[in-house]
Amino acid sequence: MNRTFAPLAPTATVVPVIERIETVLVDLPTIRPHKLSVATMNGQTLMLVKVHCSDGVTGIGEGTTIGGLAYGGESPESMKLAIDTYFTPVMIGQSATRIQAMMARIGKMVKENRFSKSAIETALLDAHGKRLGLPVSELLGGRRRDRLPVAWTLASGDTAKDIAEAEKMLDLRRHRIFKLKIGAKDIREDIAHVAAIKQALGERGAVRVDVNMAWSETEAAWGMAALADAGCELVEQPVASTSALARLMRRFPIALMADESLTGPESAFEIAKNSGADVFAVKIEQSGGLYNVQRVAAIGDAAGIDLYGGTMLEGAVGTIASAHVFSTFANLKWGTELFGPLLLTEEILRDPLDYSDFELTIPDGPGLGIELDEDRVSFFARNGLRKTINIAE
Ligand SMILES: [Mg+2]
Repeated sequence: MNRTFAPLAPTATVVPVIERIETVLVDLPTIRPHKLSVATMNGQTLMLVKVHCSDGVTGIGEGTTIGGLAYGGESPESMKLAIDTYFTPVMIGQSATRIQAMMARIGKMVKENRFSKSAIETALLDAHGKRLGLPVSELLGGRRRDRLPVAWTLASGDTAKDIAEAEKMLDLRRHRIFKLKIGAKDIREDIAHVAAIKQALGERGAVRVDVNMAWSETEAAWGMAALADAGCELVEQPVASTSALARLMRRFPIALMADESLTGPESAFEIAKNSGADVFAVKIEQSGGLYNVQRVAAIGDAAGIDLYGGTMLEGAVGTIASAHVFSTFANLKWGTELFGPLLLTEEILRDPLDYSDFELTIPDGPGLGIELDEDRVSFFARNGLRKTINIAE
């Protein structure tokens, strides 16, 4: 039987493709040394990536770490190298709109490198949002809130200075949740530090601590009881091992949060399966991107684990990308710590972010809804006019 088929109607849609990818390292000073159990940060390096598409749209993304390689296996320098050398050839000429397919393609060619993947996925989502005239939050299913509570980290290393800083933040109505970085000093000294700060703030400010894995399991058992007595409401990653975390659960009247242990959906599932945390500190870079963050959040919701929007001390780009995805969470009981840009002395956006009344406003423009101040980015670019050294003490 002869059958003729009508020719396909000419398609008017030309799928935009990825044409060029640019990366730059930007060194920015911090307002004060930021002392963590893993490193002391005197500056922050942002790895900014731009994805240029054939329809003239450019998306931006960011990768940062805490203290270079002190926190994990990726550094801003390694992210730049990974993207320039390994991501770019996989991406050029491919559809700019099929973001999940692109991330799967990258996943086949590049193992690990979650921070770099987060930066690239952010740039693709920013570009696609700009293309469609929609905020990134709407591409991710739609925001449920326009503003996010933001905690502040007290990490000067000095109790009196930390109390003065907390009082200033309360007066400015910028933060009323305070996270203390402990674990570098003797445990008794750390507990006294936390207790003094909580006593000074009373009910005006919530106090939480992050130990960044510095304690042994025995120290953690002692420390969590003492922290609960001191009025501290949450302890973040006191020990490194996930099985130790699970053994510490529900033994003390203080919430236990997983951070370093949480590296994406697979580890979220493992922690949930072993009842290993009350709260997940969810981070776009740790999880390997915004879609993975939503997968982690879904696992948390299903397991009855509360969510907290974490930070890798990103600058404005990574912070706002995080804010867009956190805004889509059904439950965000513990708020966020998206204060990264406030730790930097320099503004790199044309319009600064709105931190007011203890919250951060999520921009509602297309894409991330922010615009880089290109002159300032080039000024602070490594090998740019200003050179800043970022070295841990
Ligand atoms: Mg942490």
